[in-house]
Amino acid sequence: MSACLPREIPSNGGITTIIEPHSLGQQSREKKVEKTPLHSEDIRPEMREDILDPSYQDEEGPPPKLEYVWRNIILMALLHLGALYGITLAPSCKVYTWLLGIFYNIVAALGITAGAHRLWSHRTYKARLPLRLFLIVANTMAFQNDVYEWARDHRVHHKFTETHADPHDSRRGFFFSHVGWLLVRKHPAVKEKGRKLDMSDLKAEKLVMFQKRYYKPAVVLTSIVLPTLVPWYFWGETFQHSLYIATFLRYTIILNFTWLVNSAAHLYGYRPYDRNIGARENVLVSMASFGEGFHNYHHAFPYDYSASEYRWHINFTTFFIDCMAALGLAYDRKRPSRAAVLAKIKRTGDGSHKSG
Ligand SMILES: [Zn+2]
Ligand SMILES: [Zn+2]
Repeated sequence: MSACLPREIPSNGGITTIIEPHSLGQQSREKKVEKTPLHSEDIRPEMREDILDPSYQDEEGPPPKLEYVWRNIILMALLHLGALYGITLAPSCKVYTWLLGIFYNIVAALGITAGAHRLWSHRTYKARLPLRLFLIVANTMAFQNDVYEWARDHRVHHKFTETHADPHDSRRGFFFSHVGWLLVRKHPAVKEKGRKLDMSDLKAEKLVMFQKRYYKPAVVLTSIVLPTLVPWYFWGETFQHSLYIATFLRYTIILNFTWLVNSAAHLYGYRPYDRNIGARENVLVSMASFGEGFHNYHHAFPYDYSASEYRWHINFTTFFIDCMAALGLAYDRKRPSRAAVLAKIKRTGDGSHKSG
């Protein structure tokens, strides 16, 4: 396989451009299976677990019975009811409480997009300790499972996308891929493939394992106790406003914005890079998720630190990572070569790309 290894050419600004060589082996595989990605080779020596595996096929037979997780259903229903009540309180809420909620969600969102997603799930760039510390705290504030579990679900989503082994298989509809998958037991194929996934990089990262170990108390403190107590204690907000707006409404908003990447960005939009996969380009999702809605591109090139063909275009996460790079806290930002992107557009795109 050494002939398939890419050359990495460091270019200006510390961005590594990956030039992919032609691979006869890959071309012959493409004829057999339609869902073959352009980059099924070992493009990042340290990470291959997010590359689509086109050889996986769903097992025949009736689907397993849905097993509801009532604890999650009840908690999720209560949270959303609390958020709705929070909306009714919104007009009488203090400005500082709003500002805190917005600030909190910006930080928490970066913990997901720049942290759990682009750094830890996909290894699209490297981060020095102060940035990783910030991202792990921000990620805990987001309360969307610890980084280890998030990355395992996400890698399996990329590797087996739109199969039974995809935790939020969008073929099962908007509701299932948005939130439903969190309310039922995982499909046996998700568990099996998730167990077999190579997670050794995260197991070796002390910070990630530390968060996993202390996740429950840490998440209660950072995502529930603090946002409820701070407005009440520091600027005399009522406890009710603090709880229903700064905690329930704020948390519900960031949850739903993140979930749109799994639901809307797999159902609505063009597929300029790969028409054979479900993921799509969705500008509205990009706006709601700090640049994670260029999802057809992202599934085609999961190792691009920008998760988009573009850099700062509706992509606050890339802007943030670039700022961190300017401070010397982020480095080795990976991007495919322009030629590889254009070749992919031509070969498997749906014709909607402006270059086409
Ligand atoms: Zn991803
Ligand atoms: Zn996806």
